[in-house]
Amino acid sequence: MVNERLAYLNGEYVRADAACISPLDRGFLLGDGVYEVVPAYYHTLFHFEGHIERLNQSLKGIRMEPCLNLEEWRTILNTLVEKNKDEHQWVYLQVTRGASAVRSHGFPKDTPPTIFATSYPNPLKSKEELSKGIKTLGVKDIRWKYCQIKAISRLAYVLMHQEALDAGCDEAIVFNNGFALECSVSNLFIVRHGVIMTPPKSNQLLSGITRDCILSLAEKNKIPYRETKITERDLLKADEVWITSSTRGVHPVVEFNAQPIGQGKAGPLWSRMWDLFLEEVNALSH
Ligand code: PMP
Repeated sequence: MVNERLAYLNGEYVRADAACISPLDRGFLLGDGVYEVVPAYYHTLFHFEGHIERLNQSLKGIRMEPCLNLEEWRTILNTLVEKNKDEHQWVYLQVTRGASAVRSHGFPKDTPPTIFATSYPNPLKSKEELSKGIKTLGVKDIRWKYCQIKAISRLAYVLMHQEALDAGCDEAIVFNNGFALECSVSNLFIVRHGVIMTPPKSNQLLSGITRDCILSLAEKNKIPYRETKITERDLLKADEVWITSSTRGVHPVVEFNAQPIGQGKAGPLWSRMWDLFLEEVNALSH
């Protein structure tokens, strides 16, 4: 049961449902903090160092110091993954600027950060199930200008994601000035004439760890790819569209704005990329 899961809070391991933080915490009052989601397969963290590096970049982006070093994070995350038992999990970790006596926008002085982490089950879906694909909706970008920071203030993402769910879709593709940037909870890829394309890194999207993993698999396996801007027309003309994230890996998109993508089913390059991705995941089981 979820509420019997172990969590880490400010130096201690506690049951997730017994972990308490102050309502004066700036995470709660102001959304003043950052987070990470780290997958673990076969009880082994996947691309752990890349996630902590991105966490430290996010902390820098909100003018906080790295609060724990790599080995301290490794110990915490490994302990949660070991104690929470499920074969495949995703670890959630969050750092906020802590609690101060009076709610104020200015940074508090000498206030320790609040550090929280826990993990959830994340069963690996079969290729057959994944290949059914997902439906997507194009939505207007309503976010702030620092989307490379993995900030806990997620309201814009919540609203865009819900807009897609309300339209009977699974994910929202975020458009700004005619360009598709990423999705509400994942990065975006298209395939055209055998070339994989994804928008270049910028402050308009999160630099996904899975995005980088897919690009490095393409590189290693000599599959052509380009980091390039993507328009609505590119999406509609694409042979394949995929989304990537730490909880989903690489997932085919079969519909965009109620129109089929390619043949309206998962494509051959997705199938190849999923096999390559799974090979990397399964290497953790040895
Ligand atoms: N973009 C957004 C907006 C996201 O929320 C996520 C997932 N947290 C991603 C991209 C994918 O990043 P990652 O592959 O590191 O999970």
